[in-house]
Amino acid sequence: MIERYSRQILFDGIGEAGQKRLLNSRAVIIGCGALGTAQAESLARAGVGRLRIVDRDFVEVSNLQRQTMFTEMDARERLPKAVACINHLAKINSDIKTEAVVADVNHSNVERLIEDCEVVIDGTDNFSTRYLINDACVKYKINWIYGAAVGSYGVTMTIRPHIGPCLRCIFEEPPPAASAPTCDTAGVIMPIISVVAAVQISEALKLLTGQTEALHRSLMQFDVWRNDWRQIRLNEPTPDCQTCGLGRYEMLEAEAGDFAVTLCGRDAVQVSPRQTTQVDLPALAERLRAAGEVKLNPYLLRLRAGDYELTLFQDGRAIIRGTDDVPTARSLYAKYIGN
Ligand SMILES: [Zn+2]
Repeated sequence: MIERYSRQILFDGIGEAGQKRLLNSRAVIIGCGALGTAQAESLARAGVGRLRIVDRDFVEVSNLQRQTMFTEMDARERLPKAVACINHLAKINSDIKTEAVVADVNHSNVERLIEDCEVVIDGTDNFSTRYLINDACVKYKINWIYGAAVGSYGVTMTIRPHIGPCLRCIFEEPPPAASAPTCDTAGVIMPIISVVAAVQISEALKLLTGQTEALHRSLMQFDVWRNDWRQIRLNEPTPDCQTCGLGRYEMLEAEAGDFAVTLCGRDAVQVSPRQTTQVDLPALAERLRAAGEVKLNPYLLRLRAGDYELTLFQDGRAIIRGTDDVPTARSLYAKYIGN
């Protein structure tokens, strides 16, 4: 163990004591795309003892330009990103324990996914999940590290509930849907991912080794194409912040309903059943053979039917491509999967 981590132990910010703390620590990465894979690889190499990787999507060829770690084979097999990620982590560092969770993070599962971890790292691509993470982390007093990147621009901030401002202290409301560019509409280049992920990982290492005085305590913004780097100092939490000031967790208290979500700009809709179930994928594959071309692996089933492609996961969740209309997607779900 000393040899593997020797260069990190030599670094006086970590040392032998810091390395021991890392090996005994637990982190969760929510969203395993470009930022998430960079975070996962670095934390695994650094020897963070337990890593949970949560993602709802599967690997596609268009991910390979920036989602380091994934390979052409992962895309061909359409592996869930969380599973592909821990497969690679096992080859990078077999000393640590990893766990893949293939799931859509929502109000019904977020608390369970974060409550046993010391730090939550944002690898998501949307604000509703970030406000949900913020609610859960403030409620459980768990540190989390916000990060986002689109085009050549990126932003990051470390949230220590009640010690510094939370996400809602800074941005009172999430931006309205379809108001901001996304990676699917504006593209994204790899170097901004590396910058944002590098700052997030450094902050995670500081938190996990107890070096809180080294945290940057700011909202950091970077643009690697326009050569603009900004740092806005953060002060105290806002006393009347709905989340950390008043203790209202609006996102956690959302009514249980259906979680049909449009995946913006991708001509796809995700449909989740009201209650998590366990689908017998091989049996369903047999039933669907007459409806179209069916492919099956241990994690998901894919049906191509006419202009649509349905990908169904074991928990009953489906991603339906070929439409951005929620009712159409729900009806295809009902037609082929049934609910
Ligand atoms: Zn707040």
